[in-house]
Amino acid sequence: MRYTISLLLATAAFPAFADVSVVTDIPPVQSLVATVMGKTPEVLLPPGSDAHNFQLRPSQARGLANADLVVWVGPEMTPWLAGTLDGIGGDGARLGLLKADGVTLRDYAEDHDHGHDHDHDHDHEHHGHSHDGHDPHAWLDPHNASVWLDAIAVELSKLDPDNAPTYAANAAAGKESIAALDAEITAQLAPIKDKPFIVFHDAYGYFAEHYGLTVAGAVSLGDASSPSAARLSEITKAAGGAVCLFPEVQHDPKLVTQMAGDTGVTVGDALDPEGSALDAGPELYANLMHGLADTLTGCLSR
Ligand SMILES: [Zn+2]
Repeated sequence: MRYTISLLLATAAFPAFADVSVVTDIPPVQSLVATVMGKTPEVLLPPGSDAHNFQLRPSQARGLANADLVVWVGPEMTPWLAGTLDGIGGDGARLGLLKADGVTLRDYAEDHDHGHDHDHDHDHEHHGHSHDGHDPHAWLDPHNASVWLDAIAVELSKLDPDNAPTYAANAAAGKESIAALDAEITAQLAPIKDKPFIVFHDAYGYFAEHYGLTVAGAVSLGDASSPSAARLSEITKAAGGAVCLFPEVQHDPKLVTQMAGDTGVTVGDALDPEGSALDAGPELYANLMHGLADTLTGCLSR
């Protein structure tokens, strides 16, 4: 009995983080939330999955309905989550990061999606990735990741006001880390700015704009599973000769290697813009950004 009482007193004297249950959509968001919370929340997307095309398990849908807070990029990123969130109701809070104050959004290029009205696009129509409106891969601009840390801290503080100072301090420390990361990557990528490269899917607009890189194109419009060799030669020609072509971790690199064929384009290592092959946790965001910079440099500075 005495033991129970002392436990209660200890709990009252040293308030632990309130038990706010948070569910996130994809690993980089999970990482940014982990930075602010001081512990790693649940993520819906399992390792190795395609962020744009995923089917929630029923247990995950139930978890969503019970969550105090869902933090996600938005329907443009994960249409599979948008439908479920609409369907489950629930009275938990939701933070859609593309709509956070201060985010810099970029639109997809005009020629990004000719849709199905044009004959030449029939071979590489995209699946499940809405290209109307904004490019959702906004965490690849470190400025946006910093803005999101604040937005996450504000949202958590509403649910757990006692710990608001901790959330704010964690967000501030996270922003300092991101600023240092950004400076390092800026210096690292400076020498390869003018080397055109081709990517697997159109995820790199924010990263390329922020660091001044030259993306010649994406072999798949959106996240098609079967981009064509014709598409690659089209992009290579338009680019006036791309140096490297980068596969992605969640897809078989053989396809991309075949496509490169005798075009003279070097196939680089696989990029992981959505962190699908990285260890979860607060470090993932920095590892993701460093990974992109290292992989790009690895091929383009040859
Ligand atoms: Zn993507």
